[in-house]
This record gives sequence, structure tokens and C-alpha cells, in this order.
Amino acid sequence: DRPGVASAHDIAQMNRDYTMFSWSVQGASTPMVMTGGKGSHFFDGEGKPWLDFSSQLINLNVGHQHPRMLGAIKRQVDTLCFAGPSFATEPRGLLGQKLAEVTGLAKAFFTLGGSEANENAIKMARLVTGRDKIITRYRSYHGATMGSMTASGDPRRWPVEPGIPGVVRVFDPYCYRCPFGKTPDSCGRECVSHIEEIIQMEGPHTIAAILVEGITGSNGLLVPPDDYYPKLRALCDKYDLLLITDEVMSGFGRTGKWVATQHWNILPDIITCAKGLTSGYMPLGAVIVNERVANYFEDHMLWGGLTYSGHPVSCAAGVENLAIYEEEGIFARVDELGAHLAQRLEAMKARYACVGDVRYKGLFSVLELVRDKATKEPLAPFNGTSPEMGLLAGHIKSRQVYAYSRFNFLWVCPPLIITKEELDAGLDVYEEALALVDERLRV
Ligand code: PLP
Repeated sequence: DRPGVASAHDIAQMNRDYTMFSWSVQGASTPMVMTGGKGSHFFDGEGKPWLDFSSQLINLNVGHQHPRMLGAIKRQVDTLCFAGPSFATEPRGLLGQKLAEVTGLAKAFFTLGGSEANENAIKMARLVTGRDKIITRYRSYHGATMGSMTASGDPRRWPVEPGIPGVVRVFDPYCYRCPFGKTPDSCGRECVSHIEEIIQMEGPHTIAAILVEGITGSNGLLVPPDDYYPKLRALCDKYDLLLITDEVMSGFGRTGKWVATQHWNILPDIITCAKGLTSGYMPLGAVIVNERVANYFEDHMLWGGLTYSGHPVSCAAGVENLAIYEEEGIFARVDELGAHLAQRLEAMKARYACVGDVRYKGLFSVLELVRDKATKEPLAPFNGTSPEMGLLAGHIKSRQVYAYSRFNFLWVCPPLIITKEELDAGLDVYEEALALVDERLRV
């Protein structure tokens, strides 16, 4: 070891002894040490490269240590590291302007991440409409702060319930396991029409907004049918509810567009985002609002603030990140690689008995794993795991591919700058793991 530089072992030990890890029983957490990264790979404590097949937390969209990001952050650090949130700065103004341009909305309020963005979106929707209730979906995650956690349908909300009042949940556009027992070809889009009944039962005059993920991410990557969003938009218009889309995970190139709802040509009233906004290089979230919401706050107090709102270094990282998407042709690349990924995922579904369904949009994708294709029995129960999922994850890890898996889902969400060869190499490792699971299921 070099003098003054902690060994990988010591780093792990200090982290374990003096810091707490999210979503884990502390005594059971075994953090991997990360010492560096480049493009689609990061390096562990021994300097071994790992293929990052989940872009860390599905946020590192332009990959590890992108030189342009490093340059922009360093330039801003040299110019001005911090300005209080009441000051005007160039990066904050530029980023606000760019976000209005790419989303078609009006103004942005900056936060530090996605949970805070949703927290503030809920607050704004309540202030603007003078109503309390927020409709959200069961298979959703909106963040870990109290309001955003309650808005989530994800089981991670259970330990903090009852949380905030006024959250009403509805079912999801989950065609593989339709909650209404239908199929997309013959259904009446009950996933939307039942929401209308719930609006009526709850009282439209008590509901401020419907809050949904652009494309559901950590609860199984649910891509809605093409007419879902137009119908949901119409429903919000009919009852004068604000439509808030949470694009924290599905935004900024992940699906080949700035935000996922652009695939369906609808405009929400509020978009929340974070993650891919800076590709994780600096903490930043945003609540982007339309004219109606922006105008309301022209002559009403915005009851909200954060010391780090509009942080100049975060905003400078955001400005550069968005420029990279455009100047490096990231969306076209996602379309091209996404088409290849789709083909490979469909082939896996055809080849492996344990692959029940595959869902994808751009480089945002998941394999849903089952014990039996006919019965669709999940390979692990809702909110649980199983020896087979352990086998799958263990094999992928043993091949130094960093993958995100949860319940019976296995995601493929690599950095958007990944090469086709790297993508294929990771998918080949997934196939080895799926073959092992099939073998285990046969005995
Ligand atoms: N919304 C969605 C859809 C997310 O996936 C996440 C995080 O994974 C959040 C909100 C919370 O964002 P953050 O962890 O930045 O607070």
C-alpha cells in the first residue's frame, strides 16, 4: 500500500464501521469498494474492471468519468463553488432555459435529487389546486423522504406507514399480469378507466394530481400500451387534475428521448427528474412546471426552499450533460443499441424457460423471470427472493458484471455510451446465468 492511502480492506472496514448503507441490515452489508471508473466500467478495490450493466443506480447515463463532465465541473469549481438559492447564476439560468426547451414546459425548481423533486411537486400541486389528494400507482417508487415514500406503492413504504395523508393508489398498466385479467389486444384499458371510477369515488374536487413514473422503473419496468398516456392526460383534463410524471429514472436519454412521455406525445403539467439530469456527477433534481403552475407562483408564495437549490456546480454539470446528449448523438445511439438489445431480449425469452417476459424502451429494460412460462409463477415472490434468483445474481457477479436485480426482475440498463461489443458481452453473461437457472428448474 502507498503511504497515506487506505487499502481496499481498510476502506471497506471504515465504511462498515462508521457509515450506514441504504436499504440494508447494517450487519449484513458487504459493500464493494470502488476506486475508479472509465466509460462502461468501474474498478473495484483490487483494480479489477466491472461492466456496469445498471449505470450504478440507473443514473450514470454518460458513463464513468466522461472527460467533458470532468472539465465542466472543474471549470465551475474554479469560477464559483456555491451561491445561496436566492442568487442568480449563469449555470442555473442556462439549465432552466434548456429544460424548458427540451420538455416544452416553463420553469424549473431545483432540488438535490428525485425524492425532493417529488416532495416539492406534491406540495406545488396542492398549493396550485387548493386540493389535497394525490393519486399514485401501486407498482411505483418515488423516493425515500416521507412524502415521496408514501406516494410510492413499493413495499419499501410499509415500515414508514401511515406516512403523509391524502395518497390514493390505483393499479398499473402491467399487461403481462393484468390486474383486470385482460390482454392488451382485447381489453378496454381498464388500467385507465378504473382510475376514473376512483376519481369519482374520492371526489374530483379533493384531488390535486395524478403522479406516475414516465415508465415504471424499479417495480418491474412497465411500459404502458400506446394509448395509455393520451387517455390518462384526457382524464386529468376532464377532472382538472394536474398530471405529474416522475422521470427520475426514465428521463434523459434512457429511453431515447428527453423524457419517456415524449414517446406518446403528451405534455404533463409537472415533470420531476434527477439521476440522468447530471448523470450522477453532481447531486441535482428538478421540478419542471408548465405555464399554469409557473403563473400561479408569480403572485403566490412558493412555500419551499433548500440551501442547495440551484447549486452552481450541480447546474453546470447538468448543462454539460444535456449538451453531451445532443452533441454526441446519444439518442440516436440509444435507438440503435436499443433495437439490438430488444432483439437479444426477445431471443432470450424464446430460448430460456425461466424468462417469462421482456420489456424494453431504448436502454431501459428488464427480464421478468418465472418458474413456469404457462402458470407465470414468479421465480421469486413479490418483495422476496429465492435460491434461483440468488444463483442468477451470483453467477453474473462472479463474471464481474454489475447488474440490478430485485424480486423476480433482472434489469439491463447500461450507460448510454456503451459499445455494442460491451453490451453483447454483458448479455452473454446473462445468458450463461439464465441457462444455469433453467438447469436448476429442470431437476
Ligand atoms: N423516482 C424514481 C422513479 C426513482 O427511480 C427514484 C430513485 O431511484 C426516485 C424517484 C428517488 O430519487 P433519489 O434517490 O434521487 O431521491
